[in-house]
Amino acid sequence: MSNNTTTGKPRANTQKPRRLLTQNSQLRAEGIFNFPLPAWAGRFKDGSTYNACPGAGACAKLCYARVGTYRFPSVLAAHERNMWLTMHALADWEAQMAEEIRHKRFRGKWIRLHDSGDFHSDEYLEAWLRIMRDAPEDTWFYCYTKSVSMFRRLVEPNPPKNFLWCYSLGGKEDHLLDLEVDRHADVFPGVAEVEAAGYTDQTESDLLSVLSESPKVGIPANRIPMLLKRQGDETFSSLQRALDKKIAEKRKRSAAGGLDLAS
Ligand code: SF4
Repeated sequence: MSNNTTTGKPRANTQKPRRLLTQNSQLRAEGIFNFPLPAWAGRFKDGSTYNACPGAGACAKLCYARVGTYRFPSVLAAHERNMWLTMHALADWEAQMAEEIRHKRFRGKWIRLHDSGDFHSDEYLEAWLRIMRDAPEDTWFYCYTKSVSMFRRLVEPNPPKNFLWCYSLGGKEDHLLDLEVDRHADVFPGVAEVEAAGYTDQTESDLLSVLSESPKVGIPANRIPMLLKRQGDETFSSLQRALDKKIAEKRKRSAAGGLDLAS
């Protein structure tokens, strides 16, 4: 492990990779490429911190990308390297990604932005918008995101023609969504619950998240026993509503306590 010669702390993994786009086993089966970030928050080796999912709420405790293969050291190190590049070397990262995407292997293909992680800053989202606008017209991009207010401001007024997205529930900004109008995905305990709620089951193809006729997309929970147990009969959206309520009550109590002290 290399050390930072001035602080003695191990250096963050800042090595530029040969290729930025990858494929996990599920997306490979559909011919989809992917750019992953680490899930939620963490610390680089040099001690500095990151938050790859500023919109995460109830989802963080049930996140498939915070367990299993995503936490294998080599996998996490590659995702943290991506995070570092998009935080601290964004212009270089953008140039490399834009060039990579022009390769013929991506013509007629879909690229998913993040199978873990999310849009973590305006600058990072704006870099992707430029990359998508400059990409060949037959290279398509999609994502799930909990960065709702960021998309309302920066994407919705003028989205790139080759970009589709699906808001995903279980985040701090769920309340900003109109579930009858905004395309969104919710995570249910199983397929039966997806169907009972009248949502489109996305199991057959991840692309249904952006291509299904209905804007209501249902994802059956990942079959990881610990996460299934934690989720119980709830959906990500119902857990977020409960969390929002708890936070609002806590704020009310603190405010009331403040008033008592002042009076
Ligand atoms: S936003 Fe997605 S990747 Fe991030 S913690 Fe939530 S479920 Fe995991």
